[in-house]
Amino acid sequence: MSRYLAPALVASVDDLVIYRVENGQPVATDAPRGFSERFIHSEVYKAYQGVQAVVHSHSLEVVPFSISTTPLQACFHMAGFLGTAVPIWDAASVYKDHPDDNQDMLVKNVKLASALARSLGDGAQGMPKHPVALMRGHGFVATSNSLEMVIFNSVYTAQNARVQRQALSLGTDVQVFTEREAHDTGTTTGQGAVKPWPLWVAEVSKSSLYQNLM
Ligand SMILES: [Zn+2]
Repeated sequence: MSRYLAPALVASVDDLVIYRVENGQPVATDAPRGFSERFIHSEVYKAYQGVQAVVHSHSLEVVPFSISTTPLQACFHMAGFLGTAVPIWDAASVYKDHPDDNQDMLVKNVKLASALARSLGDGAQGMPKHPVALMRGHGFVATSNSLEMVIFNSVYTAQNARVQRQALSLGTDVQVFTEREAHDTGTTTGQGAVKPWPLWVAEVSKSSLYQNLM
């Protein structure tokens, strides 16, 4: 994954570093400075053998739900995978046992990242029970068994958050999915990011922000 760099600016092989799942440290002894929160990725891979791709996001659509008592819940048909309750991981749950540690909310070590990874819960076939967990005052982590589907989960987590927040702003009761509806919409849409993926690739290819020198 990326060296110490805003991920959108990754352009060449020189921007990529191979890290060990075991401890999040670079394999190469002369590697450039590493990405601060790489431990999120290494600890999720360590805890869930079925996970093949991890996204960590600071989506402004999603963060409000990480600091609110209103849970993020599936209420939009493309996001049934969120289920009826998305867990919120709170860094303070680790700080309380280590009061002298820096409390900057960043997941910059194995200790914090392993606690975050555990909040996803154990599911079937080496996958977490919840594909997404929110991180209080920070963002979210999304997981999947493929790159395409982790992007799918990330994009639609943000869209579900936007839909839910807009519905809440109407000031009337908001009807979220039942467990059955979340399961069935999640199963249908989870059959693949076949349709949106080429669109997302085209968007990235056409944006002058992103460079691909590889
Ligand atoms: Zn972060």
